[in-house]
Amino acid sequence: MDYKQYIKIVEDWPKQGIQFKDITPLMDNGKAFKSAVDEIVEFAKEKEIDIIVGPEARGFIVGCPVSYALEVGFAPVRKEGKLPREVIKMDYGLEYGKNVLTIHKDAIKPGQRVLITDDLLATGGTIEATIKLVEELGGVVVGCAFLIELSYLDGKDKLDGYDVLALMTY
Ligand code: AMP
Repeated sequence: MDYKQYIKIVEDWPKQGIQFKDITPLMDNGKAFKSAVDEIVEFAKEKEIDIIVGPEARGFIVGCPVSYALEVGFAPVRKEGKLPREVIKMDYGLEYGKNVLTIHKDAIKPGQRVLITDDLLATGGTIEATIKLVEELGGVVVGCAFLIELSYLDGKDKLDGYDVLALMTY
């Protein structure tokens, strides 16, 4: 399926110079959204995953239907202060300043096979921090799946050695 017809590019949002890739038209279309989820399910099927991990908020949108289809759990990665119980944290650099991502300390058991999902791979900072959280808890990252990769930002360089799926590349 040509998914790009369902992606709206918004110039200079949220700030000047950024071409925002809006996935909501893809989510609006039941057939296109199901097809995208099904492709990630196929990618994950042979990996014998135990749990899916996704960063807020669009990592939930991509990961939760996959977790439902595979009958495995989903563990959210959230910004600092959002998860109610004991967490571990990871800092990562943004264009300006830094951000902190957290996961519940008991979300992953050592040795569990983990698929990480997000809507879009840009610089790779978000996913690199998510991988570090999973690995610190003893999880084994067996794949990372995205709807979109911005290949001109070289985020894949941070994912060297990991199995990466992106349904669209810009
Ligand atoms: P990064 O950490 O640079 O790989 O950024 C990835 C995160 O930022 C993803 O969770 C995306 O939702 C969001 N993001 C970054 N750049 C864009 C963009 N051009 N369009 C839409 N979302 C973006």
